Amino acid sequence: MEYRRLGKSGLQVSVLSLGSWLTFGKQIANSTAEELMKIAYDNGINFFDNAEIYARGQSEIVMGNILKKMGWARDTFVVSSKVFFGAGGKLPNQTGLSRKHVFEACHAALKRLQVEYLDLYFCHRPDKNTPIEETVWAMNDLIRQGKVLYWGTSEWSAQEIQEAYGIARQYNLIPPTMEQPQYNMFHRYRVEIEYAQLYKNIGLGTTIWSPLASGILTGKYNDGFPTDTRLGMEGMEWLKNRELVAERIEKVKKLSALANELGVAMPTLAIAWTIKPHFVSTAILGASKASQLQENLKAIEIAQNVLNNEIMQKIEEILQNKPEM
Ligand code: NDP
Repeated sequence: MEYRRLGKSGLQVSVLSLGSWLTFGKQIANSTAEELMKIAYDNGINFFDNAEIYARGQSEIVMGNILKKMGWARDTFVVSSKVFFGAGGKLPNQTGLSRKHVFEACHAALKRLQVEYLDLYFCHRPDKNTPIEETVWAMNDLIRQGKVLYWGTSEWSAQEIQEAYGIARQYNLIPPTMEQPQYNMFHRYRVEIEYAQLYKNIGLGTTIWSPLASGILTGKYNDGFPTDTRLGMEGMEWLKNRELVAERIEKVKKLSALANELGVAMPTLAIAWTIKPHFVSTAILGASKASQLQENLKAIEIAQNVLNNEIMQKIEEILQNKPEM
């Protein structure tokens, strides 16, 4: 396993990590979740990602039970949660980034995950109804209380992150360490261009989500719609409409041919491409089956030994979407 520093912090995260969105507490059996975490941990993955909203709290409960059952030493793994969407309640203070919800969501996540502190705590989206200053103070105070070690954002604009950083510096508070953005072969602008100054100026770390664009980049949708996949799940029409676009499938077909030529599996080529840049601290994998995770772990070797400049250029020629300043 390769480990990278989370931005300029001293925390080391495995370059591949494991997330639980749509899988833990929902799509997969608890026994499969356990199998996935065990494979991950045994292969050196040290970061497990979660959020209050995932399966409305159930995902954290499942992960917490597994962590407890496994009995892994607390200094051998990093666990996260995220606040914003709530864990199901829709009343005014059950969502958002107010001091009240940030505190209550943190306490609830600690209970569900059965841990004394969260290593990483993310603001899952920006909250237009709360001043950023209030959220920065709340995160700072949770850190001072020992309930959170590092705080960060997810899908915040560069301007919003910069504002949070500026407020923290102004009042001697702890600034955000990391952002959790979407980054994959089809979704590039923010991570490659918009955040570029933040990597340099504030040492922002990144924990990437959906490196496979919810599975499109595995190639399994190239020849029709397979059964038993995320995009076929009930209620996932919005995701299917967003991700499963004809133009993308045409590109994945070409990428699959390249992967074939290189003798590597398409999912591993796509994941390797995602972890190649220095500004990626870790890419969070999702998996509904143990075999997927086992396959995807090979991406590290491919990033190191297969993706040279010439291959990266070939991929660029297929993608035709390199973002410009
Ligand atoms: P991916 O884009 O990598 O999609 C993972 C899914 O693709 C799997 O669940 C599986 O779905 C399919 N898949 C994975 N590997 C293979 C393979 N080798 N062969 C065939 N199919 C495969 O990542 P996710 O979208 O799951 O995101 C990863 C994590 O990122 C989440 O768990 C969560 O922790 C985080 N996240 C954060 C967000 C945020 O807003 N901060 C938003 C979204 C995710 P299936 O088998 O069902 O088709």
